[in-house]
Amino acid sequence: MKPVIHLALTHDWELRGDGSGDIEQIQFAPMRRLLKLYGAFGIRTTFFPDVMQQLAFRELESGHPELKKRADSWDQHVRDAYQQGHDVQLHLHSQWDDAVYDSGKWQLRGKWSILDYDPGVAYRMLKSSKEYLERTLRSIDPAYRCQAFRASALALAPSPHLLQQLVNLGITLDVSLAPGLHLNTQNLELDYRECDSTFLPFYPQMDDARRISRNREPIICAPIHTFRASRYGVSKQNLSLLGRKIKNDMEVMLSGADRKTAEDYGNKQWLPKGRSSPLAQAYEKVILPGLKGKHFVSDTARLSYSLLDEMLKDIRRRALAYGLAQVPVVLINHPKEINNYSAIERFISEAARADDIKFITLSELTSKLQDGEFYVARRSHDK
Ligand SMILES: [Zn+2]
Repeated sequence: MKPVIHLALTHDWELRGDGSGDIEQIQFAPMRRLLKLYGAFGIRTTFFPDVMQQLAFRELESGHPELKKRADSWDQHVRDAYQQGHDVQLHLHSQWDDAVYDSGKWQLRGKWSILDYDPGVAYRMLKSSKEYLERTLRSIDPAYRCQAFRASALALAPSPHLLQQLVNLGITLDVSLAPGLHLNTQNLELDYRECDSTFLPFYPQMDDARRISRNREPIICAPIHTFRASRYGVSKQNLSLLGRKIKNDMEVMLSGADRKTAEDYGNKQWLPKGRSSPLAQAYEKVILPGLKGKHFVSDTARLSYSLLDEMLKDIRRRALAYGLAQVPVVLINHPKEINNYSAIERFISEAARADDIKFITLSELTSKLQDGEFYVARRSHDK
């Protein structure tokens, strides 16, 4: 029997990691375009607005009318998405803490991982962000509930306090873990190479969400889907990247590859420690993955159509292997990075027609996990 796959499409809706970017171009316009696409297929998804960003806009809006205008529009876009049936849940970037706005530019001074903050300060960020979201949405729906979370730069674990703080705030679902992801940058260290569950939702060990708990915990983690692409798919993606660059000269191509590395993670400051030469980087980014196959986070803004197709094959293969009648899968998207809408449109139209795929919001996922409709792994069962 073919398992039914419940796809939760999620979007981290935000400016770039260093606070740069035209908000109309990289947030408002892409959201409107995605809403139109999803509306055409009757698909409901989830948006994760970075609320710390919005709090910074609100905090400084009295001295800067342009910030107020954009912050009002932000609220309106969030409400529009919600009114069109999409879910809106809690996401924040702690680097907006104590942000400075000078000559029309943001200067972000906070730390990129909320895990690097004192627990009391971290809790205040989480709480004020959640309250802002609730105020914004309860004005149009008093029944709105904020119950799902995605961490600043996906930094969730290990932490002695973060999961418990989320539980204290009424959060019951986390979707921050991307199994296999490993970042070691100036701003962030993240090691999700050894995650107990790489596919199914699970009860996390409360001090380290990479581990499955023996207990039924008050919060559930659903991993963001990741997969290892074939050499063919990777080469194709890189060739199309190269094709775009090759119009310029080789110099530009290499600095372009360099820039792409930075954009991959939103900001230059994410570049790995001890960066190698542009040529070595181009080799690592463009040539090596083609030889070895490469691990991808299932980000529908970043993948070519052929990789989206491989991603779906990987989801179906693993869903079948677990022998469950139905299984939820969380995908991610960064609207600020979309440069190829046709790949997303083709993927969405095909997935919408498939008889084994349903689309689900994170609020729906939360209730189905709690009602026992979906399997949730615990150590005694799964490992
Ligand atoms: Zn984000």
